[in-house]
Amino acid sequence: MPRGVVPRQPARTGRQDKVRVARTLMSAKPDQKQSGRAKAAPVRAKAVAPSKSAKPAKSTKGYNPMAPERVAEILKRLNDLYPDVTCALTHRSAWELLVATILSAQSTDVNVNRVTPELFRKYPTVQAFAALTPEQLEPDVRSTGFFRNKSKSVVGAAKKIVSDFGGQVPDDIDKLLTLPGVARKTANVVLGTWFKKAIGVVVDTHVHRISRRWELTKENDPQKIEQDLMKIIPQDRWILFSHQVIWHGRKLCFARKPNCVQCPLENICHAADKTWSTVEMHKGATA
Ligand code: SF4
Repeated sequence: MPRGVVPRQPARTGRQDKVRVARTLMSAKPDQKQSGRAKAAPVRAKAVAPSKSAKPAKSTKGYNPMAPERVAEILKRLNDLYPDVTCALTHRSAWELLVATILSAQSTDVNVNRVTPELFRKYPTVQAFAALTPEQLEPDVRSTGFFRNKSKSVVGAAKKIVSDFGGQVPDDIDKLLTLPGVARKTANVVLGTWFKKAIGVVVDTHVHRISRRWELTKENDPQKIEQDLMKIIPQDRWILFSHQVIWHGRKLCFARKPNCVQCPLENICHAADKTWSTVEMHKGATA
């Protein structure tokens, strides 16, 4: 055991104890001095001369995670990683994509893709869906979860498309948002993937989580996240960016235990919940 580590026996006179108490009181805060019950003396770090080879830690002061160069680097690496990705929901028309997107809430694309082929075989047109009651549709979509609400949304959307839009899914965000069960995420999926219109950025659970990890937003509300992303991502990348981030969330950047060691964006990601890091992690960069 190194010298000085062996606990010293108290002196019979108690002199050492008095000395220790006196030192402790000197270093205690005023209110502790008054009470005479200081809890612990501060630990003093031994002064060490800096090594010549040691580099000063990079200061994060002035770091701007939304700087155009950083955003461009994120987009470039996403392009390298996922050059040709698109929506994973199987569909052959705007209507089928709309239905699949409504069914995908709180479910997985794999799960939805298991249900939709039979669903669209049974009800091949939007008119066929419009002729149903929500209760009639429920058994067909039950396995996607929240089936009562989803049945209501799908049948309600079909009825409105037939009655108000001549049986055609509108390619206009304001009109899409009038359909039951359709919020900005679903509208952006249909507009971007089917109509190739970049009206907004799809913010699903993956885009939500990863945008926060990358410090591209501090918001928690999907609409505010979308507004933040629209300000910093060029409009001609809005559609592809969403698809790429969704794929990244599925392949590497999982909600729990992201696979950081395999991630090509690792050295520009400062997420607080990384599982491995070569760069400083930022407290505020959380999913
Ligand atoms: S480094 Fe980790 S947390 Fe950051 S994007 Fe990659 S997988 Fe996600």
